[in-house]
Amino acid sequence: MSNPDILVIGGGIAGLSAAAALSAHARVAVLEAEEQIGFHSSGRSATMLHYALGDRLVRALTLASRGFFENPPEHFSEIPIGRRMPVLVHAREDERAALDELDAEISLFAELERLDAAGVHDLCPLLKEDALYGIADRNGIRLDPHALLQGNLRQLKSNGGELHTGARVAAVRRRSALWQVTTEQGEVHSAPLLVNAAGSWADAVAKLAGVAPLGLEPKRRTIITFDAPPGTELDGLPFAKTVGDELYFAPESGRLFASPMDEVPSEPCDAQPDEYEVALAAYRMEERTIVKVPQIHSKWAGLRTFTPDRHPAVGFAPDAEGIFWLAGQGGFGLQTSPAMAAITASLIAGQKWPVADVDKEELEPGRFLRQAA
Ligand SMILES: Cc1cc2nc3c(=O)[nH]c(=O)nc-3n(C[C@H](O)[C@H](O)[C@H](O)COP(=O)(O)OP(=O)(O)OC[C@H]3O[C@@H](n4cnc5c(N)ncnc54)[C@H](O)[C@@H]3O)c2cc1C
Repeated sequence: MSNPDILVIGGGIAGLSAAAALSAHARVAVLEAEEQIGFHSSGRSATMLHYALGDRLVRALTLASRGFFENPPEHFSEIPIGRRMPVLVHAREDERAALDELDAEISLFAELERLDAAGVHDLCPLLKEDALYGIADRNGIRLDPHALLQGNLRQLKSNGGELHTGARVAAVRRRSALWQVTTEQGEVHSAPLLVNAAGSWADAVAKLAGVAPLGLEPKRRTIITFDAPPGTELDGLPFAKTVGDELYFAPESGRLFASPMDEVPSEPCDAQPDEYEVALAAYRMEERTIVKVPQIHSKWAGLRTFTPDRHPAVGFAPDAEGIFWLAGQGGFGLQTSPAMAAITASLIAGQKWPVADVDKEELEPGRFLRQAA
């Protein structure tokens, strides 16, 4: 495309979903550094839609995204982008107050069932007997990130948009009313508007354009997979999470996966699992369940990138014309992607504001710059 209206930097779920939504209104090209889309955070997640993470704002964005996953548009119909998986948050006696608090918060967004010890073990027989209380959301959704990424890509392309992979943006310059972007390979692209959806690298990309960084904090999270005890009915198992951020596990391709819910500060990078968190995942699995983890089948890590207030930053940069931030998706970037893409299209293409329970000001990137000043 010789002269797009919008260049989106980043071919993860944030960049591709925004590009797909924007392509109905403008000529859009996506630049992705890697040879494949979703190589970083978007391809390494736990792939759940649930309400037990984040706060009111994150839950509101998640709720606003549900309709998309339940009734996906045309370009998403080839492979299902999600399937029902119950979500169980469980607690020991000493964690009961925290469960009550979470119950009150989530109940504003989802229909929850309160479970006693028998109900908890009926839904998840792998938990140890000290799991005495639970809340269950039978309508959790296990997402398929690859189907989601491909659906967005199909939508983008069907509207005449483009994806360039192997296109790592190395320099950004303002040339009259255009942003001129040069990739490491020497390709040059220009457009009046740049959408910065570079995930963990979004601050680094901003600096290339002379825009003040937001103070994004990438944090590593680890996942391991291993065999379930023989005879386990994997199909019926929920995504099970401790009420505190200690452990979650769920069925995964004929096995189980688990995360110790680590948040280790990291530079933007191709995150690799660290032996300590791998061992911690196995330890916590054995601490909270009857499962033994003598052997780990596979392991990976990815970065969850947060703004200083852990709310995403979506909106125009206050300190440069034609730069739009779409960053800080933390641990909820898949499940909120439809709402965030719709918000992006609303702010850039002047569409109706799509999420009644969220104010534009709550997402404004300028809030961090005001604080810094
Ligand atoms: C272990 C783990 C579990 C998670 N679980 C969940 C979950 O259950 N539910 C949920 O909703 N979310 C979950 N998440 C969070 C979710 O994965 C992220 O919020 C989301 O993927 C962020 O998407 P993104 O597009 O911003 O980032 P990314 O997918 O990282 O995409 C950013 C892209 O920008 C590209 N890029 C960077 N710099 C440049 C440059 N200079 N030029 C061109 N391209 C560039 C990168 O190559 C990358 O592909 C989890 C994450 C992890 C790691």
